[in-house]
Amino acid sequence: MPLCPMRQILDEARKGGYGVGAYNVNNMEQIQAILQAASETQSPVIIQASRGALEYTNLVYLKHLMMAAVEDNPGLPVALHLDHGPNLKTCQEAIGLGFTSVMIDGSIDYDAKTPDGKHPARSFEDNIRVTKEVVDYAHARGVSVEGELGTLGGIEEDTHTDKVLLTEPDEVEEFVKRTGVDALALAIGTSHGAYKFKHEPVLALELISECRQRAPDTAFVMHGSSSVPKELVDEVNKYGGKLPGAMGVPMSSIQEAVKRGIQKINVDTDGRLVVTAAIRKVFALKPGEFDPRKYLGPARDALAQLIAAKMRDFGTAGHAKDYSSKTLEDMKTFYAKK
Ligand SMILES: [Zn+2]
Repeated sequence: MPLCPMRQILDEARKGGYGVGAYNVNNMEQIQAILQAASETQSPVIIQASRGALEYTNLVYLKHLMMAAVEDNPGLPVALHLDHGPNLKTCQEAIGLGFTSVMIDGSIDYDAKTPDGKHPARSFEDNIRVTKEVVDYAHARGVSVEGELGTLGGIEEDTHTDKVLLTEPDEVEEFVKRTGVDALALAIGTSHGAYKFKHEPVLALELISECRQRAPDTAFVMHGSSSVPKELVDEVNKYGGKLPGAMGVPMSSIQEAVKRGIQKINVDTDGRLVVTAAIRKVFALKPGEFDPRKYLGPARDALAQLIAAKMRDFGTAGHAKDYSSKTLEDMKTFYAKK
């Protein structure tokens, strides 16, 4: 079975009232862990790669690892998505590699820099312009597109501004109509990275309900949705790590967000933490170990367990067989009729 269009996975999630995790990958073990979790819990899944991941894997390796994952797990709906695409060129590159979905992060101008070395925020009109360009290119090839309105805080590859601007529900309707995006990342107060908050966060959950009314057919996305569980941070620190005061989004807030209309939940940090904890544990308890399989293997198992738990908590579990994947050709016809 080929990779599934992300649009279909999110449409089904919206109909079924559940969330689907989008998990970031950079290597074989992460891809295997995610697919193992999806297979175990019978979940549709979105695997995503950032621009950094594309560079790290030299593009073609990631493509073939994904092909292997799909071949190894027939019958599971799996979408491959570009996370935070900075411009049309990178989106085109990902589509050329076979990605079934791309994000164009039009809220930030990645090709420009302010005097303090940060990337400036784009105006609403400018965001619409760059997003629409990507939508036209992608939809002509059956590929789904995620856009972003407002800005997210955090440390994801130094690309975001520090200032967090929440999404304006008034702008959502116009943005969706004029760009035709399949999915939209809402800024509701979440933030990238492990040091999101000093206290338990107060998310603007009511914003999701307001946006849902203005754009009933668009999937909504929550970035920076790792929970940064205390026991995981403690485990990293117990075996020599130094992550003081890391804190994330509680699962109960994510579940409430899903009820109000979020379909795609981006998770990266928690996966990084669990892999680091597992590897540190092996190094601390077995200092004589030097076979990479003996620490990457346990890291892979721990990641699979973490993701399987998220698939149950997000409500994704058990939905893999609800539908069979459409092809990009099917999607081309779908978009041509719109
Ligand atoms: Zn993000």
